[in-house]
Amino acid sequence: MTTDAMEGGCLCGAIRYRLLARPFDADYCHCRQCQKATGAPVGTWMDFKTEQVQWLNETPKEFASSDAIRRGFCPQCGTSLSYRHTDYPQYLTLSIPTLDAPQAVAPNYHIHTASQLPWLELSDPCPRYPGDRSDRSDPQE
Ligand SMILES: [Zn+2]
Ligand SMILES: [Zn+2]
Repeated sequence: MTTDAMEGGCLCGAIRYRLLARPFDADYCHCRQCQKATGAPVGTWMDFKTEQVQWLNETPKEFASSDAIRRGFCPQCGTSLSYRHTDYPQYLTLSIPTLDAPQAVAPNYHIHTASQLPWLELSDPCPRYPGDRSDRSDPQE
């Protein structure tokens, strides 16, 4: 990221956001829910403190994909934009490809590789975890 303020938004432009800081982390998630929610073989996500994300017009509509998880999307075009856990309201996660310059943020690790699609070959050196990152006892190469 070359500037302090970065922007992004959905496919149709109804939802736009501005970032006030760099993400403190970013990941690839191969879980089935991210695959379904994003319509892609792997979700790529970046993590912020909630107050570091400014919604510029509308806010995403949210779907409760489980008791504690809320997935935000544009009600006009369906773009998957955000992810949050209701137990951690201080954090908000955004989809990296929704950035206007998505090459500015690279994921640091893979989670839920147990459901990585077999035809998706990835050669990056990032750590891989079969479940969530709390499975530190059993990281995969
Ligand atoms: Zn939209
Ligand atoms: Zn996931």
